[in-house]
Amino acid sequence: MASVVVPRRALPTFMDEAGRVLACTQRPDLFVSFNDRGNARTRRVRHAAALCEDCPVKAACLAWAVKYGQDGVFGGKLVSRGRVLQ
Ligand code: SF4
Repeated sequence: MASVVVPRRALPTFMDEAGRVLACTQRPDLFVSFNDRGNARTRRVRHAAALCEDCPVKAACLAWAVKYGQDGVFGGKLVSRGRVLQ
């Protein structure tokens, strides 16, 4: 079975096994900022989630975020303290 690199926010880059840089590395401001509210937040989260759609580690990413209580957009979902909100 092929291995994948599960993203960790502390690392400078996230790559899949083919060495492609994942969308969240290119636009971290879309995935982890919680300073916005209302429509701006909704637009940001939708944009980030759309970028996750083609990510090769999408399922592993969401599972990791839930397991380790992360905040942000992971695997195309908004996660707060490890709970999937949308
Ligand atoms: S699913 Fe989204 S947040 Fe997770 S590694 Fe891929 S692009 Fe990044």
